[in-house]
Amino acid sequence: MIADYHIHTRLCGHAEGEPREYVERAVALGMTEMGFSDHLPLLVGWEPGFTMRRADLDGYVATVQDLAAEYSADIRILLGIEVDYIVEVEEPIEALLAEYPFEYAIGSVHALEDGFIIDHPRNRDAIGVRGVDAVYLESYALVERAAATGSFRILGHLDLAKKFGHRPEDAEGVAAAAASALRAVKRAGAAIELNTAGWRKPVGEAYPAPELLAAAADLDIPLTLGSDAHRPDDVGADFARATALAREAGYSAVLRLSDGRPQALA
Ligand code: ZN
Ligand code: FE
Ligand code: FE
Ligand code: ZN
Repeated sequence: MIADYHIHTRLCGHAEGEPREYVERAVALGMTEMGFSDHLPLLVGWEPGFTMRRADLDGYVATVQDLAAEYSADIRILLGIEVDYIVEVEEPIEALLAEYPFEYAIGSVHALEDGFIIDHPRNRDAIGVRGVDAVYLESYALVERAAATGSFRILGHLDLAKKFGHRPEDAEGVAAAAASALRAVKRAGAAIELNTAGWRKPVGEAYPAPELLAAAADLDIPLTLGSDAHRPDDVGADFARATALAREAGYSAVLRLSDGRPQALA
């Protein structure tokens, strides 16, 4: 099975299971490569529970490295990290990333510039109040800025703003913003992910939407698969469906991070 590069651990405060159980699940599925990508500690003063704490980061790295060594005969385990892209702490993020031997970072926009969290259930209605189009436009602008930093190998769940089912009114305008973000990803030489968690959310659609995925394929932007697992059972979730979707969008391969080479979609 194709590698899953978007996997959390309970160190972030909102996922379950032992890291080892995620590995066991991946091995049982026949995966030969996987990557942990838990939430990098937030460098702004939001409430706790969204990310790992700074004090847990060393332990996270050690845990993943130990598992990688222990399971090296069965599976290649990469040390990754998912980063909340936040404009005001761009430089501290880069500095923190440089302190650790991360093999890749997923840059994710979970919040708008004023700290409004797009994917928090409590903001489900607030998205409409703020303006659905405004939320999409600002989030794509942030994806664009995140890509331009060059800090991220992968840009995560591009259209997270749809999580609760909100659809833009000005579909064309929003699509243009998304296209601009994709061009920034392309310029940065980064990849995007097909994140299957959207199928488990109210929207019932993987991130990104099929038309956005097709636009990325047109630009030859490399693709990875990610389950965004927050429990061991979700490792590799819906990867067969994701593979079919990627093919329909025009992809014939995904990016293997260990060697940077394309891996044919089976
Ligand atoms: Zn999470
Ligand atoms: Fe995320
Ligand atoms: Fe995630
Ligand atoms: Zn995520």
